[in-house]
Amino acid sequence: MAEHFHEDSVAAVAVRIDVEHPEGLVFDPHQPQLRVTDLGAVRGDGVFETMYAEAGRIRKLEAHLERLGRSADILDIGLPPAASWRAAVELGLEEYRTRGALPEELTIKLVATRGVEGEPASDDPAFAGTYWALLTPVTDAMRATRGQPVAVTLLDRGYDSTAAERAPWLLLGAKSLSYAVNMASLRWAKDHGFDDVIYTTSDGQVLEGPTSTVLIVTRGADGARRLITPVLETGILPGTTQGAIFAAAEKAGWDLGYGPLTPQDLLDADHVFLASSVRLVSPIARLDDAELAVDDELTAELIDLLAEDLPVSHPLD
Ligand code: PLP
Repeated sequence: MAEHFHEDSVAAVAVRIDVEHPEGLVFDPHQPQLRVTDLGAVRGDGVFETMYAEAGRIRKLEAHLERLGRSADILDIGLPPAASWRAAVELGLEEYRTRGALPEELTIKLVATRGVEGEPASDDPAFAGTYWALLTPVTDAMRATRGQPVAVTLLDRGYDSTAAERAPWLLLGAKSLSYAVNMASLRWAKDHGFDDVIYTTSDGQVLEGPTSTVLIVTRGADGARRLITPVLETGILPGTTQGAIFAAAEKAGWDLGYGPLTPQDLLDADHVFLASSVRLVSPIARLDDAELAVDDELTAELIDLLAEDLPVSHPLD
Protein backbone atom coordinates (compact mmCIF):
# COMPACT_ATOMS: atom_id res chain seq x y z
CA MET A 1 0.00 0.00 0.00
CA ALA A 2 2.88 2.31 0.85
CA GLU A 3 3.73 2.98 -2.81
CA HIS A 4 0.56 5.10 -2.99
CA PHE A 5 1.97 7.55 -0.47
CA HIS A 6 4.56 10.19 -1.14
CA GLU A 7 7.61 10.61 1.07
CA ASP A 8 6.23 13.12 3.58
CA SER A 9 3.12 11.04 4.05
CA VAL A 10 5.15 7.90 4.70
CA ALA A 11 7.04 9.85 7.35
CA ALA A 12 3.79 10.60 9.20
CA VAL A 13 3.19 9.46 12.77
CA ALA A 14 -0.37 9.04 14.03
CA VAL A 15 -1.67 8.65 17.57
CA ARG A 16 -5.26 7.95 18.46
CA ILE A 17 -6.98 8.66 21.73
CA ASP A 18 -9.81 6.53 23.07
CA VAL A 19 -11.22 5.59 26.45
CA GLU A 20 -8.83 2.62 26.71
CA HIS A 21 -5.86 4.70 25.62
CA PRO A 22 -6.43 8.12 27.18
CA GLU A 23 -2.71 8.85 26.79
CA GLY A 24 -2.69 7.81 23.15
CA LEU A 25 -1.83 4.79 21.03
CA VAL A 26 0.44 4.98 17.98
CA PHE A 27 -1.20 3.62 14.82
CA ASP A 28 -0.27 3.25 11.17
CA PRO A 29 -1.84 6.18 9.28
CA HIS A 30 -1.50 4.25 6.02
CA GLN A 31 -3.98 1.61 7.11
CA PRO A 32 -7.75 2.25 7.19
CA GLN A 33 -8.80 3.57 10.60
CA LEU A 34 -12.00 5.55 10.31
CA ARG A 35 -15.47 4.01 10.01
CA VAL A 36 -17.18 5.17 6.83
CA THR A 37 -20.12 6.34 8.96
CA ASP A 38 -17.97 8.63 11.09
CA LEU A 39 -19.71 12.00 11.12
CA GLY A 40 -16.36 13.74 10.79
CA ALA A 41 -15.99 12.11 7.36
CA VAL A 42 -19.56 12.29 6.11
CA ARG A 43 -20.59 15.70 7.45
CA GLY A 44 -17.38 17.46 8.41
CA ASP A 45 -18.84 17.32 11.91
CA GLY A 46 -15.78 17.75 14.02
CA VAL A 47 -13.08 20.19 15.06
CA PHE A 48 -9.35 20.43 14.54
CA GLU A 49 -6.17 22.32 15.26
CA THR A 50 -2.97 22.63 13.26
CA MET A 51 0.17 23.24 15.30
CA TYR A 52 3.82 23.76 14.49
CA ALA A 53 6.79 22.13 16.21
CA GLU A 54 10.43 22.99 15.78
CA ALA A 55 13.14 20.68 17.10
CA GLY A 56 10.45 18.75 18.98
CA ARG A 57 9.09 21.84 20.75
CA ILE A 58 5.44 22.53 20.03
CA ARG A 59 4.65 26.21 19.65
CA LYS A 60 1.64 27.63 21.53
CA LEU A 61 0.45 24.18 22.63
CA GLU A 62 -1.76 25.54 25.41
CA ALA A 63 -3.41 28.13 23.14
CA HIS A 64 -4.20 25.41 20.58
CA LEU A 65 -5.64 23.11 23.25
CA GLU A 66 -7.77 25.95 24.60
CA ARG A 67 -9.08 26.73 21.14
CA LEU A 68 -9.77 23.03 20.46
CA GLY A 69 -11.81 23.01 23.68
CA ARG A 70 -13.67 26.16 22.66
CA SER A 71 -14.43 24.77 19.19
CA ALA A 72 -15.66 21.48 20.69
CA ASP A 73 -17.91 23.43 23.09
CA ILE A 74 -19.39 25.43 20.20
CA LEU A 75 -20.15 22.21 18.26
CA ASP A 76 -21.14 20.36 21.45
CA ILE A 77 -18.68 17.55 20.78
CA GLY A 78 -17.21 15.56 23.69
CA LEU A 79 -13.46 16.05 23.96
CA PRO A 80 -10.77 14.13 25.87
CA PRO A 81 -9.06 16.26 28.52
CA ALA A 82 -6.12 18.47 27.57
CA ALA A 83 -3.80 16.03 29.40
CA SER A 84 -4.77 13.30 26.89
CA TRP A 85 -3.87 15.51 23.92
CA ARG A 86 -0.60 16.58 25.53
CA ALA A 87 0.31 12.93 26.19
CA ALA A 88 -0.72 11.88 22.66
CA VAL A 89 1.45 14.45 20.90
CA GLU A 90 4.34 13.68 23.23
CA LEU A 91 3.92 10.00 22.30
CA GLY A 92 4.04 10.97 18.63
CA LEU A 93 7.27 12.91 19.12
CA GLU A 94 8.69 9.99 21.10
CA GLU A 95 7.83 7.65 18.23
CA TYR A 96 9.94 9.79 15.88
CA ARG A 97 12.80 9.80 18.41
CA THR A 98 12.59 6.02 18.72
CA ARG A 99 12.88 5.82 14.93
CA GLY A 100 15.93 8.09 15.22
CA ALA A 101 14.31 10.54 12.79
CA LEU A 102 12.67 13.49 14.55
CA PRO A 103 12.07 16.01 11.73
CA GLU A 104 13.37 19.52 12.43
CA GLU A 105 9.92 20.95 11.68
CA LEU A 106 6.58 19.25 12.11
CA THR A 107 2.95 20.02 11.40
CA ILE A 108 0.81 18.49 14.13
CA LYS A 109 -2.87 18.18 13.48
CA LEU A 110 -5.34 17.38 16.27
CA VAL A 111 -8.73 16.10 15.13
CA ALA A 112 -11.90 15.36 17.10
CA THR A 113 -15.08 14.18 15.37
CA ARG A 114 -18.55 13.49 16.69
CA GLY A 115 -17.96 9.83 15.88
CA VAL A 116 -20.60 7.47 14.54
CA GLU A 117 -24.23 8.50 14.94
CA GLY A 118 -26.02 6.52 17.66
CA GLU A 119 -22.91 4.49 18.46
CA PRO A 120 -20.76 6.51 20.85
CA ALA A 121 -17.26 5.09 21.17
CA SER A 122 -17.67 5.29 24.95
CA ASP A 123 -20.34 6.05 27.54
CA ASP A 124 -17.94 8.67 28.83
CA PRO A 125 -18.91 11.76 26.80
CA ALA A 126 -15.27 12.89 26.81
CA PHE A 127 -14.39 9.82 24.73
CA ALA A 128 -17.63 9.33 22.75
CA GLY A 129 -16.23 10.57 19.43
CA THR A 130 -13.13 9.83 17.32
CA TYR A 131 -9.85 11.50 18.21
CA TRP A 132 -6.38 11.51 16.76
CA ALA A 133 -3.17 13.47 16.36
CA LEU A 134 -1.25 13.35 13.08
CA LEU A 135 2.36 14.48 12.93
CA THR A 136 3.93 15.14 9.51
CA PRO A 137 7.18 16.81 8.48
CA VAL A 138 6.69 20.37 7.22
CA THR A 139 6.94 20.15 3.45
CA ASP A 140 9.79 21.75 1.52
CA ALA A 141 7.17 23.67 -0.45
CA MET A 142 5.85 25.27 2.74
CA ARG A 143 9.35 26.08 3.97
CA ALA A 144 10.24 27.67 0.64
CA THR A 145 7.24 30.02 0.63
CA ARG A 146 7.48 31.03 4.28
CA GLY A 147 7.98 34.78 4.68
CA GLN A 148 7.62 35.25 0.91
CA PRO A 149 5.32 37.98 -0.47
CA VAL A 150 1.85 36.90 -1.57
CA ALA A 151 -0.86 38.26 -3.85
CA VAL A 152 -4.25 38.30 -2.16
CA THR A 153 -7.80 38.85 -3.35
CA LEU A 154 -10.66 40.11 -1.19
CA LEU A 155 -13.65 37.75 -1.36
CA ASP A 156 -17.12 38.23 0.10
CA ARG A 157 -17.80 35.67 2.85
CA GLY A 158 -21.51 36.08 2.24
CA TYR A 159 -22.66 37.26 5.66
CA ASP A 160 -22.58 40.54 7.54
CA SER A 161 -20.54 41.53 10.58
CA THR A 162 -23.38 40.71 13.00
CA ALA A 163 -23.92 37.13 11.79
CA ALA A 164 -21.82 35.53 14.54
CA GLU A 165 -24.01 37.09 17.19
CA ARG A 166 -27.31 36.65 15.38
CA ALA A 167 -26.81 33.11 14.13
CA PRO A 168 -24.75 30.97 16.55
CA TRP A 169 -25.69 27.83 14.56
CA LEU A 170 -23.32 29.00 11.83
CA LEU A 171 -20.55 27.98 14.26
CA LEU A 172 -18.51 31.06 13.38
CA GLY A 173 -15.40 31.26 15.49
CA ALA A 174 -15.11 27.46 15.77
CA LYS A 175 -12.35 25.66 13.90
CA SER A 176 -14.65 22.99 12.49
CA LEU A 177 -13.67 20.32 9.99
CA SER A 178 -16.02 21.90 7.44
CA TYR A 179 -13.28 23.62 5.44
CA ALA A 180 -14.61 22.86 1.95
CA VAL A 181 -15.66 26.52 1.54
CA ASN A 182 -12.24 27.72 2.70
CA MET A 183 -10.48 25.43 0.23
CA ALA A 184 -12.87 26.43 -2.58
CA SER A 185 -12.00 30.09 -1.91
CA LEU A 186 -8.30 29.30 -2.25
CA ARG A 187 -8.91 27.46 -5.53
CA TRP A 188 -10.92 30.45 -6.77
CA ALA A 189 -8.04 32.75 -5.84
CA LYS A 190 -5.47 30.56 -7.60
CA ASP A 191 -7.64 30.31 -10.71
CA HIS A 192 -7.70 34.12 -10.79
CA GLY A 193 -3.96 34.66 -10.35
CA PHE A 194 -3.74 35.09 -6.57
CA ASP A 195 -2.00 33.12 -3.84
CA ASP A 196 -4.47 33.67 -1.05
CA VAL A 197 -7.70 35.27 0.12
CA ILE A 198 -8.97 37.76 2.68
CA TYR A 199 -12.67 37.43 3.39
CA THR A 200 -14.86 40.48 3.85
CA THR A 201 -18.36 40.71 5.31
CA SER A 202 -21.25 41.79 3.11
CA ASP A 203 -21.20 45.11 5.02
CA GLY A 204 -17.56 45.71 4.16
CA GLN A 205 -15.50 44.59 7.15
CA VAL A 206 -12.27 42.64 6.88
CA LEU A 207 -12.50 39.15 8.38
CA GLU A 208 -9.61 36.70 7.97
CA GLY A 209 -7.99 34.43 5.43
CA PRO A 210 -9.32 30.89 4.80
CA THR A 211 -6.42 29.59 6.92
CA SER A 212 -4.88 32.73 8.39
CA THR A 213 -5.34 35.91 10.43
CA VAL A 214 -4.88 39.41 8.99
CA LEU A 215 -2.37 41.74 10.64
CA ILE A 216 -1.61 45.31 9.67
CA VAL A 217 1.38 47.39 10.71
CA THR A 218 1.32 51.16 10.79
CA ARG A 219 3.99 53.61 11.89
CA GLY A 220 2.94 56.75 13.76
CA ALA A 221 4.50 60.15 13.11
CA ASP A 222 6.75 59.50 16.13
CA GLY A 223 7.94 56.26 14.51
CA ALA A 224 6.02 54.11 17.03
CA ARG A 225 4.88 50.89 15.44
CA ARG A 226 1.34 49.66 15.80
CA LEU A 227 -0.02 46.20 15.07
CA ILE A 228 -3.74 45.90 14.38
CA THR A 229 -5.91 42.85 13.74
CA PRO A 230 -9.67 42.59 13.08
CA VAL A 231 -12.06 42.34 16.04
CA LEU A 232 -13.20 38.85 17.01
CA GLU A 233 -16.88 39.79 17.33
CA THR A 234 -17.33 39.22 13.59
CA GLY A 235 -16.86 35.49 14.25
CA ILE A 236 -13.31 35.06 12.99
CA LEU A 237 -11.05 32.50 14.56
CA PRO A 238 -8.91 33.83 17.41
CA GLY A 239 -5.49 33.30 15.81
CA THR A 240 -2.82 31.76 17.99
CA THR A 241 -0.08 33.13 15.71
CA GLN A 242 -1.53 36.64 15.89
CA GLY A 243 -1.86 36.25 19.67
CA ALA A 244 1.75 35.13 20.08
CA ILE A 245 3.01 37.97 17.87
CA PHE A 246 0.96 40.47 19.87
CA ALA A 247 2.31 39.15 23.19
CA ALA A 248 5.94 39.42 22.06
CA ALA A 249 5.42 42.74 20.27
CA GLU A 250 3.84 44.29 23.35
CA LYS A 251 6.87 43.23 25.39
CA ALA A 252 9.06 44.86 22.73
CA GLY A 253 7.16 48.15 23.09
CA TRP A 254 4.83 48.09 20.09
CA ASP A 255 1.31 49.50 20.28
CA LEU A 256 -1.46 46.96 19.74
CA GLY A 257 -4.98 47.43 18.46
CA TYR A 258 -8.12 45.51 17.51
CA GLY A 259 -10.36 47.19 15.04
CA PRO A 260 -13.25 46.79 12.80
CA LEU A 261 -11.04 47.04 9.70
CA THR A 262 -12.17 47.86 6.17
CA PRO A 263 -10.38 47.11 2.89
CA GLN A 264 -9.39 50.79 2.82
CA ASP A 265 -7.58 50.31 6.16
CA LEU A 266 -5.53 47.56 4.50
CA LEU A 267 -4.66 49.87 1.60
CA ASP A 268 -3.77 52.69 4.01
CA ALA A 269 -1.57 50.52 6.26
CA ASP A 270 2.20 50.55 5.88
CA HIS A 271 2.28 46.76 5.65
CA VAL A 272 -0.24 43.91 5.69
CA PHE A 273 0.44 40.29 6.63
CA LEU A 274 -1.27 36.93 6.81
CA ALA A 275 -0.29 34.88 9.87
CA SER A 276 -0.85 31.23 10.75
CA SER A 277 0.84 28.49 12.73
CA VAL A 278 2.89 26.63 10.12
CA ARG A 279 3.31 29.30 7.45
CA LEU A 280 4.17 31.81 10.24
CA VAL A 281 3.97 35.16 8.45
CA SER A 282 3.48 36.17 4.80
CA PRO A 283 3.69 39.82 3.72
CA ILE A 284 1.03 40.88 1.21
CA ALA A 285 2.58 42.45 -1.88
CA ARG A 286 -0.63 42.81 -3.89
CA LEU A 287 -4.23 43.22 -2.76
CA ASP A 288 -6.41 42.81 -5.83
CA ASP A 289 -5.13 45.61 -8.13
CA ALA A 290 -3.15 47.50 -5.49
CA GLU A 291 0.57 47.04 -4.84
CA LEU A 292 1.48 47.02 -1.14
CA ALA A 293 4.90 47.72 0.34
CA VAL A 294 6.88 44.72 1.60
CA ASP A 295 9.61 45.09 4.21
CA ASP A 296 11.74 41.93 4.51
CA GLU A 297 13.28 43.08 7.79
CA LEU A 298 9.87 43.59 9.34
CA THR A 299 8.76 40.16 8.13
CA ALA A 300 11.85 38.58 9.70
CA GLU A 301 11.20 40.53 12.90
CA LEU A 302 7.63 39.20 13.17
CA ILE A 303 8.88 35.65 12.56
CA ASP A 304 11.47 36.17 15.32
CA LEU A 305 8.80 37.46 17.71
CA LEU A 306 6.96 34.18 17.21
CA ALA A 307 10.00 32.19 18.29
CA GLU A 308 9.58 33.67 21.79
CA ASP A 309 6.46 31.50 22.04
CA LEU A 310 4.82 33.67 24.72
CA PRO A 311 1.42 32.75 26.21
CA VAL A 312 -1.46 33.92 24.06
CA SER A 313 -4.53 35.83 25.17
CA HIS A 314 -7.38 37.43 23.26
CA PRO A 315 -9.71 40.30 24.18
CA LEU A 316 -12.69 37.92 24.42
CA ASP A 317 -10.89 35.50 26.83
N1 PLP B 1 -8.29 31.79 10.63
C1 PLP B 1 -8.63 30.61 10.07
C2 PLP B 1 -9.96 30.48 9.40
C3 PLP B 1 -7.75 29.52 10.13
O1 PLP B 1 -8.09 28.34 9.59
C4 PLP B 1 -6.49 29.68 10.76
C5 PLP B 1 -5.53 28.57 10.82
O2 PLP B 1 -5.62 27.62 10.10
C6 PLP B 1 -6.17 30.91 11.30
C7 PLP B 1 -7.10 31.95 11.24
C8 PLP B 1 -4.84 31.15 11.96
O3 PLP B 1 -4.81 30.46 13.18
P1 PLP B 1 -3.45 30.08 13.88
O4 PLP B 1 -2.61 31.30 13.91
O5 PLP B 1 -3.87 29.67 15.25
O6 PLP B 1 -2.83 28.99 13.09
